[in-house]
Amino acid sequence: MKYAHRNILGDELPLPIGKIVCVGRNYADHARELSNAVPSSPILFMKPSTALIDMSVPINIPKDLGGVHHELEVALLIGRTISKGSNVSNKTDILFGVGLALDLTLRDIQQKLKASGHPWEIAKGFDGSCPCSSFQLVRPIDNLQNMEFSLTINGTLRQLGHTADMIFPIGVLITEISRYFTLMPGDIVLTGTPAGVAQLNPKDRLVCRLEGVMEISTSII
Ligand code: ZN
Repeated sequence: MKYAHRNILGDELPLPIGKIVCVGRNYADHARELSNAVPSSPILFMKPSTALIDMSVPINIPKDLGGVHHELEVALLIGRTISKGSNVSNKTDILFGVGLALDLTLRDIQQKLKASGHPWEIAKGFDGSCPCSSFQLVRPIDNLQNMEFSLTINGTLRQLGHTADMIFPIGVLITEISRYFTLMPGDIVLTGTPAGVAQLNPKDRLVCRLEGVMEISTSII
């Protein structure tokens, strides 16, 4: 099925498919597990629109590109144009919805590229690298800063995060992103992953849960 932004009833949303802006190391426990310093400003990168696939159908991961890691993240669907670092904290119509996404990462390739000081886009932005859920419609940003989310694989809890633990909360993050990249309706922001990232394997069964909003079962092929 071709990817489209959808609401939780499965209806297609009237928004174009845009870019995905991601933040690295927005949870201190994850920065530490990869032996990275906790940053003083958000570490931003992008995935192209071709990275998006529907999370609820079995996920085809690359077979010959080394380890593919899961990073479960809270995903924000942008509802309004935001640019030039404008302060979004007092605006209520920034977001269209909230959901979950997997920031799939070719970890072996990324580590090699990082070690030699090269950009690591291919490790993060390859085709299908962003399985994404449907979106619960939402307006105020503040309500999203108190949500638990988790990833269970084959019955074992692997990642458990709480949005209150973000180093850069949602309002700050969106403002920072918009200093460099204009956010457009239909763009997605991934807000970072908590500790517990690890390699995915064929036949893994995943349950991605956003407290009180959604629970998505999927698998790896
Ligand atoms: Zn990530």
